[in-house]
Amino acid sequence: MAATLNTALVMGETIKAVQPTKAAIKAVRGTRDLLPPETELWNHIDATARRVFARYNFGEIRTPVFEDTQLFARGVGEETDIVSKEMYTWEDKARAQSEKAQSLTLRPENTAGVVRAYIEHKLGEQGLLQKLYYIGPQFRRERPQKGRYRQFFQIGAEVIGPPSAGSESPLRDAEVLEMLATLLNELGIAGWRLLINSVGTPADRPRYIATLRAALQPVVGQMCTDCQRRAETNPLRVLDCKHPEDQPIIATLPRIWDSLDEASRAHFQQVCEALDACGVPYEHDHRLVRGLDYYTRTTFEFQHGGLGAQNALLGGGRYDGLSEAIGGPRAPGIGFAIGEDRLVLTLQAQVEAQTVRADAYIAPIGEAQNSQALALARELRAAGLRIELGDGGFRLKKSFETADKLARKIVILGEDEAASGILTVKDFATGEQTKVPKADLAAHLLPH
Ligand code: AMP
Repeated sequence: MAATLNTALVMGETIKAVQPTKAAIKAVRGTRDLLPPETELWNHIDATARRVFARYNFGEIRTPVFEDTQLFARGVGEETDIVSKEMYTWEDKARAQSEKAQSLTLRPENTAGVVRAYIEHKLGEQGLLQKLYYIGPQFRRERPQKGRYRQFFQIGAEVIGPPSAGSESPLRDAEVLEMLATLLNELGIAGWRLLINSVGTPADRPRYIATLRAALQPVVGQMCTDCQRRAETNPLRVLDCKHPEDQPIIATLPRIWDSLDEASRAHFQQVCEALDACGVPYEHDHRLVRGLDYYTRTTFEFQHGGLGAQNALLGGGRYDGLSEAIGGPRAPGIGFAIGEDRLVLTLQAQVEAQTVRADAYIAPIGEAQNSQALALARELRAAGLRIELGDGGFRLKKSFETADKLARKIVILGEDEAASGILTVKDFATGEQTKVPKADLAAHLLPH
């Protein structure tokens, strides 16, 4: 492709003059390509999460990346930032008479989709808790910046079930939080902070919102325009404001804790006691209300200082009324979503990215050895080794230079080696050169 753009054949002669005339197409703003070696880190995070979730007896769920727009409007809430301004929504025209036109949306989060699937497949009917995790892309039309993208990845999990299965118990909240602490520790994330709060039940909320509106009324004129709008549409969101000038005012606003009923306070206290019992440190942050309407009682966030403005590594909470809000049976639940992009940023800041080197580079000498080299590579790969295969058309110097960039060792396969079955192996770290019988080669190349 590059050759056809940069060169032109004029009367049998190649000239290097023609510049590409078409602008190169780039990835869409807010989306990114993930390339090696960074993808190694992503895979490592995925694998660690799957391993930890399995120990807690979670199973994987995969839901579609687009859903009926109503799911998010009713589940996440019309007044939330996500639904009111960040969704990728389109009108899907009917293609046949049997189809109806439908408003569809790329999922901005995965909890609503999981709860929809729980309802659709009647997962609660056995009377057991459903413990489901997911890993996948989510889409929000946010202003892109470091740690905030329009396509980003979440690793999340949900514990949901009928009340008779114990789905309302504070023990479930504490177990999920303890699992997250274990996962972050196992990933080697140092210095995380867990903030928790209770936003009460839908019965507590109107009481608090009325108190909050009254307290905001005399001061909201001095706040940012976002807060002025939120004070009207969704006053809880004012507590999320990050504007430094608004902080002294927010500090004087009434706390949701004072509007909670006894049952919500007892629930919160039991979560705290269980966390104390297993030694998971946390802080009670009275302002943590989170941006999604479905939360009830426990809300939480794990933060990390290394992330700057976008310091939330993950967030979650309880959603006891979500299933009913989207037309299902009573099915209380608790869940979280980890921002995988932010986990990667945190881990990258902790350790320098290391290029993964192949265990060996096989250098055939002369094109006649190419087939034998492929057969040898096949054997070594079958033994679990990571192998780069060179090309007999390369000069030996080029093979050495390439191998030194890609692999820990080079294996020379010339005519003599092919005939004798004894191969020459050079270790780039020690400079040592050894003759190794083919039968011992895999063992010799294993990383120590
Ligand atoms: P939420 O679904 O809003 O509760 O977010 C849960 C987590 O997802 C956050 O704590 C972030 O780590 C991550 N997250 C949310 N929005 C974005 C985004 N636009 N880009 C990258 N990560 C995000």
